[in-house]
Amino acid sequence: MTKVHLRPEVLYAVVDQMWNAVVITSGSKADHYAVQYANPAFLGMTGYTLDELLGRPLTHLQGPDTDQAVIDELKLCLERGSFFEGQTFNYKKGGERYFVRWNISAIRNDIGEIVNYVSVQTDLSELRASQGRNLLLEEVLQVIPDPILMTNEGLEIGFCNLAARNLFDCHVGQNLTSILVQTMSVAQLRVALHENGKEGNNGVGWRVVLEHRGSSGSSIFIDHSVRPVSNEATGAQDLILVGKDISNHIEREENLSKEAKTDALTGLFNRGHGEELLKSLIQGKVLKTSPIAVASIDIDHFKSINDTYGHSVGDDVIRSVANTILKTVRLNDHVIRWGGEEFLVIFTDVSSIRPPLLADRIRVAVATTELPAVGGVTVSVGVGTPHIGEKHDELLKRVDAALYEAKARGRNNTCQAAEGP
Ligand code: GH3
Ligand code: MG
Ligand code: MG
Repeated sequence: MTKVHLRPEVLYAVVDQMWNAVVITSGSKADHYAVQYANPAFLGMTGYTLDELLGRPLTHLQGPDTDQAVIDELKLCLERGSFFEGQTFNYKKGGERYFVRWNISAIRNDIGEIVNYVSVQTDLSELRASQGRNLLLEEVLQVIPDPILMTNEGLEIGFCNLAARNLFDCHVGQNLTSILVQTMSVAQLRVALHENGKEGNNGVGWRVVLEHRGSSGSSIFIDHSVRPVSNEATGAQDLILVGKDISNHIEREENLSKEAKTDALTGLFNRGHGEELLKSLIQGKVLKTSPIAVASIDIDHFKSINDTYGHSVGDDVIRSVANTILKTVRLNDHVIRWGGEEFLVIFTDVSSIRPPLLADRIRVAVATTELPAVGGVTVSVGVGTPHIGEKHDELLKRVDAALYEAKARGRNNTCQAAEGP
């Protein structure tokens, strides 16, 4: 080893200024490796003055939490003169515990005898405490029942707690897009996350509902609270997503909304929803690309069915006629229970087939369906197509007039609405 010739005062000054604690002891077991020098950092770490340490062994730094196995290994290294490195708890003068990592090297004289041991030490208490706090925090995140995900800028999952893993069957390294039901690219999802965030983002985060594929295969809706955090290590913007499973809530809302649109007796759309549908479909824009037609259908002599067989059989007949109509129309047509024994059918896209033919199919289907309790019923039908710009109630008036005409013609008839208003 090349020896650098420096004045001893220079070396002293260096060691005195070091952040690491340095202590030099004798090399002899006989005097229990008594302290010969300790730098200010060592004094600061242990709380002793130099006078209190000089000539004394360092065993008094040990205490109840000092790891005996580490001390045993230390002793062995000192006896052998081999390099030692270890970490454990030691105690300050005031009794306060600290966690220290240190190494010890032997200094030998010209004939190889050990004359001193030099030890460099670092107080790791702070680091250990913060690692402990991090572990504790992670433990807390793991047991929170709501799903928590952390992703990098590319939306790759860097952390997922137990609830997230159970809900989405996800793992670290997977991309957030791969645990969604919607097929979205990372860029699209980033836009969705940030677009949603524009509303109500007060700098701390925002909310976005995502449809996930649950571990059981069914869809689950998660209301995520999204918060960007800048990653100190990479300088990039990571995202923290804390979710709440709102699937039950969404299902309830869907059921309520379905219930609000449905007629209880027949399961068809009710009049309220039918009117909304008709209003929206009658818009000129839709009509040009996909013209519609409307049929008003009324069961003939229904009062006598009620009178003869009772109200309950009357209900069965209404249900049965509803089913016959449903079976007869095409998939994209809408069937509405308009009133007691009246139905409205909205035929969509009638560009290739004449509406009176579609409507008359229904009349024929009802007339030829046998009803066990009553034998059979017939219906009368009025049908018409909207003029450009015509309001839905004006169209309904024309179609109703056609229905009355069908009744007047002796019932079990289909009549086309007059062109004029
Ligand atoms: P028309 O051929 O002229 O249509 O004769 P109609 O007897 O069918 O005439 P109208 O429309 O006056 O009679 C309809 C009857 O339907 C009156 C009402 O008591 C009955 N009704 C209305 N809603 C229901 C229902 O939900 N269930 C039952 N069973 N009957 C109903
Ligand atoms: Mg009627
Ligand atoms: Mg009737």
